[in-house]
Amino acid sequence: MSCIFCLIAEKQIPSQCVYESDNIIAFRDLNPQAPVHILVVPKMHITSMNDINSENSGVVAEIFEAINKIAESEGIKESGYRVISNCGDDGCQSVKHLHFHLLGGRKLSETLS
Ligand code: 5GP
Ligand code: ZN
Repeated sequence: MSCIFCLIAEKQIPSQCVYESDNIIAFRDLNPQAPVHILVVPKMHITSMNDINSENSGVVAEIFEAINKIAESEGIKESGYRVISNCGDDGCQSVKHLHFHLLGGRKLSETLS
């Protein structure tokens, strides 16, 4: 399966990795929308938030613990940040591998849409 984020997790495609554990990897977005724009993804292929269940939800908890650490190492923990996960067509999810955008380093838009 040629899933781009699986290939990044397997190091078959290079990325600017900022955090890694056995189960997750975080790397800088190719097309950053803010001074800090990091994608945090499970190494296992989960297609979207629709596919989170009791068997794989542990990795989602790990992702949020990692986001906390990455926010600190990126220097945005105190100033604040936003976490977004797009799901499906209406959510404009372009990469069909669960990922969380961590955005910060500037005042973000007040609108969420
Ligand atoms: P989505 O629209 O699915 O929520 O977000 C996908 C994100 O992945 C986009 O922000 C896009 O810039 C980023 N992206 C797509 N392909 C690559 C890639 O090969 N490397 C990196 N680092 N980011 C990517
Ligand atoms: Zn994948």
